[in-house]
Amino acid sequence: PSEVQLSQIKGKQIPGIQNIIAIASGKGGVGKSTVSANLAVTLAKMGFKVGLLDADIYGPSVPTMFDTEGQKPISVDVNGKNLMKPIENYGVKMLSIGYFSGANQAVVWRGPMASKALNQMIRDAAWGELDFLLIDLPPGTGDIHLSIIQEVPVTGAVIVSTPQHVALADVRKGIAMFNMESINIPVLGLVENMAYFTPEELPDNKYYIFGNQGAQHLAEDLNIPVLGEIPIIQSIREAGDVGRPAALQEGSVIAEIYTETARKMV
Ligand code: ADP
Repeated sequence: PSEVQLSQIKGKQIPGIQNIIAIASGKGGVGKSTVSANLAVTLAKMGFKVGLLDADIYGPSVPTMFDTEGQKPISVDVNGKNLMKPIENYGVKMLSIGYFSGANQAVVWRGPMASKALNQMIRDAAWGELDFLLIDLPPGTGDIHLSIIQEVPVTGAVIVSTPQHVALADVRKGIAMFNMESINIPVLGLVENMAYFTPEELPDNKYYIFGNQGAQHLAEDLNIPVLGEIPIIQSIREAGDVGRPAALQEGSVIAEIYTETARKMV
C-alpha cells in the first residue's frame, strides 16, 4: 500500500494548528474513541503539542477517558477575542460537548446545530500552538461528518476498524467519504483495533476473535497502509473507564504498539 504520512502533506490551515487529523470509523463500538485517546497521549509523550476534539456528540467519551468529568472550559481573552480554554490532562488539550452538558445528560442535536457547535470548538478555542489536533468523529458517515470535513481544513484521516467483515464493509464507505472529489482528504491508514487476544497464561498465543487478516486484505485492496494492530487487552478497557489511557503505562506492550502506530502516521 502507498504510505501517506502527515509530514508529506501540506494542508490548508487554521493559524497555530499544523495538522488536523480526523479519526473515523464505519461503525460504533469498534474503539474509535479509545484509539483517539491513546494516540493523543502517545503523540504528547513523543513531545508533540496535541489537542483532541471530541466530535462524537452522540456519546462524548473524552471527559471520562481523561478523568476530567464535570470540568467546565472557562473563557479567556486572546487579542480581544473571547475564546474557550480547552481542558488539559496528560499533556493533551481537549474540548468535548460533554464538558458543556451535565454528566448523564442526553443531548439531542439537530445536524446544523451540532456542526455549528463543533466548528466553534475548533475555531473559537484557545488551542494555542498545536502540532496535531485530533478530531474524534462520530461513528459512521453522515451530515455532521460531511460538514466537518468540508468546513475544517483536515490534513488527513485515520480509520479505526475491528477485523470483522461487517465492520470492514463500512470502512469502505468511510474511505469513500474522504476520497470524494470535492473533499479529497488523504487517508493515512487503518488502525485495526481488537485485532487479537492473548491470554496472560499463554503469552505466545494469539486468538483472532474477530477474524484474521481482514484489515490487511482490505488495506491492500484500498491501497492504504495498516498503521497498527491493537490487541484486545482488559487493561485498555479498564484504563478507559478509570480515565487514564493505557498507552500512558510506561514500558507496557500497549505503549509500544501505540508508539509504533503514531510513528507510522507522522
Ligand atoms: P467507539 O468510539 O468506536 O464507539 P470505544 O472507544 O468507546 O468505541 O470502545 C468501545 C468499548 O470497547 C469501550 O468499553 C472500550 O473501553 C473498549 N475497548 C476499545 N478498544 C479496546 C481494546 N483494544 N481492548 C479492550 N477493550 C477495548
